[in-house]
Amino acid sequence: MLFVPDEIRQCLSVRPRSQFAPSKRACALLEQAGLRPTRQRAALATFLFQEGNRHVTAEDLWQEAGAAGVRLSLATIYNTLNQFAEAGLLCKVCINGERAYFDTDLGNHQHFFVKAENRLIDIPAAHMPFAELPEPPEGYSIAKVDVVIQLVRNKSGGSSRPRSTQRAFREQARAG
Ligand SMILES: [Zn+2]
Repeated sequence: MLFVPDEIRQCLSVRPRSQFAPSKRACALLEQAGLRPTRQRAALATFLFQEGNRHVTAEDLWQEAGAAGVRLSLATIYNTLNQFAEAGLLCKVCINGERAYFDTDLGNHQHFFVKAENRLIDIPAAHMPFAELPEPPEGYSIAKVDVVIQLVRNKSGGSSRPRSTQRAFREQARAG
């Protein structure tokens, strides 16, 4: 049997700190948005834009980064997500002013929010027709319409008559 001294064995058993490599596409996106692709920005952009559109919170991304061996503080991730939103790479969706989701889909759409599951669900623009928007005050024009319809799961598990949805919508409208 081959003799391997302890110190060599230790070196061999130490896993590389991180095998994570940011994607070239993520770096290109950052540069296009006018953001320097620092290590942390490139890593987070890679997680965000690697597949399909998604809604994430800073906590979601923190866990994802940690699992991939990328150690960043939650505050760094939150600040970076806000930078991405300011640079137009993400849309920020705030729920009740306390929970911020970041959406990679910049297209025109609205959201359902399922509080019990902390989950946003897209409502395509075609399903959310606004027959009549209020006239903005003089000197202003409407830049964007953000609608979050809060959902609760039906107790009976039956069909989803939109009464509770309408009530949640009215409450949201009053609160907002
Ligand atoms: Zn969305």
